Amino acid sequence: RQGMSVRENMILLRRLAANETELHHRAEHDPLTDLNNRSSFIRFVDEHLASAPPDRLCAVMFVDLDDFKHINDSMGHAMGDQAIVAVGERLKSCMRDHDLVARLGGDEFAVFLTRLPNVGQMVTIAERLIETLNEPFQSSDMRASVCGTIGVAIAEPGDDAGELLRRADIAMYAAKARGKGLFGIFEPSMHVAMYAPLERRADLERAAEDEEFTLHFQPVVDVATREMVGVEALIRWAHPRLGLLGPIEFIDDLEKAGLMVKVGAWVMVESCRQTMRLRAGSHRELSVSVNVSSSQMQDAGFVSVVAGALTATGLPAAALVIELTESGSIGESEVVGLRLRQLRAMGVRVAIDDFGSGYSSFTYLRRLRVDILKIDKTFVDGLLAGGPGAALVEGMIGLGNSLGLLTVGEGVEEEEQHAALVRLGCMMAQGYLHGRPMPMDQLVLLQDADSVSYAPGVAAIG
Ligand code: C2E
Ligand code: CA
Ligand code: CA
Repeated sequence: RQGMSVRENMILLRRLAANETELHHRAEHDPLTDLNNRSSFIRFVDEHLASAPPDRLCAVMFVDLDDFKHINDSMGHAMGDQAIVAVGERLKSCMRDHDLVARLGGDEFAVFLTRLPNVGQMVTIAERLIETLNEPFQSSDMRASVCGTIGVAIAEPGDDAGELLRRADIAMYAAKARGKGLFGIFEPSMHVAMYAPLERRADLERAAEDEEFTLHFQPVVDVATREMVGVEALIRWAHPRLGLLGPIEFIDDLEKAGLMVKVGAWVMVESCRQTMRLRAGSHRELSVSVNVSSSQMQDAGFVSVVAGALTATGLPAAALVIELTESGSIGESEVVGLRLRQLRAMGVRVAIDDFGSGYSSFTYLRRLRVDILKIDKTFVDGLLAGGPGAALVEGMIGLGNSLGLLTVGEGVEEEEQHAALVRLGCMMAQGYLHGRPMPMDQLVLLQDADSVSYAPGVAAIG
């Protein structure tokens, strides 16, 4: 090494530097199009948002090619790649110097627009983009046409890149629902339900495979002492692009896709397993309530799913509550009656969920033996400010008592409602006042923080 000349040293250093620049470039760019990749896009947008002047608009556009899969399948991957490269070039050609174009993956691109004077300017750019994308491609030996759909999210104070991409993605799906080659601007009213059913199904199938579902647990407390006596398991979907979704956003689709039974079985085992952790740190016989849909109840394998979950996790049957919502199909079904008898014979308890909100609460009670009544939130809401609501809740609690059933007030948000439940003799309560649904890790931490009894006041933060 000593013998190396100054000149050789210089060459070596320069090569190293070039190598480093090259590596750096590769880490930030998509190899096919040489556009920025997802991670460098996100970093750029975050950095910009942190320092952007408040008087100028910024926006993220999510660009998705329509029917790209068709091009790929019918013309081959090489042609598909050519089209992707051409699309990237076209996007770039429409942009101003300070805008950033990135390829997120597959046929998805993102554009970050900065220093927009007004929304009108942004609309003009979006229209120009769509027009440019729609021009047919002329390659050496063939012609192809693609078109793209664009979703736009305008940045608001406090937004980050992830949030903007998520909103632009939702706006893109909403635009696709209206037709191809359109663009749409995100509005808060846009719901995930904008998904085309087929894409939703594929999405859900992947979620079931990749275990994107997760559970949150909400404390159920003793009304008199406010101590936690159990939890209710509530499903969530950690969607890779849309974030954490609640069950109203996907349960119906899960049913339609025929995946409820499968996912429901997972919920059953996982609820029992995670509750065992909570029970380990408690001197109480904490129970777990699991929501079960009518399709699960109709399924021939249901009783063995429950039995299997108990055996596999070691949770005592008496610590499991199955929650059923009132619906004609459940109340009238002989099979469901039989299954419930089998479950109760094992020691599992059964609760009627949302009691009072279904269409035939009494038929239900007459035909099915149950253990717990969960009084629907709408009635608990009626406990505020001395309306006629209290009489209804009092009637339900009285009914429960005379049938020997436990009663739970649901959706308790105010101290005033809790006080009314105490007065009316309701036994248990559940609601944001006592604790929000949260991951089991968090609940276990809260429990450890107060190992003598569970501290409801703290949990309300979650
Ligand atoms: P639910 O069984 O009536 O569950 C209670 C719902 O009320 C939960 O909503 C909970 O987050 C919410 N909640 C609890 N306390 C309060 C409160 O004080 N105020 C307000 N405003 N809301 C409160 P979530 O988690 O969105 O679940 C919605 C419904 O989805 C559940 O209603 C249940 O019917 C269904 N669901 C949840 N998990 C599952 C599951 O694993 N399987 C099935 N089949 N259905 C599920
Ligand atoms: Ca429930
Ligand atoms: Ca309920």
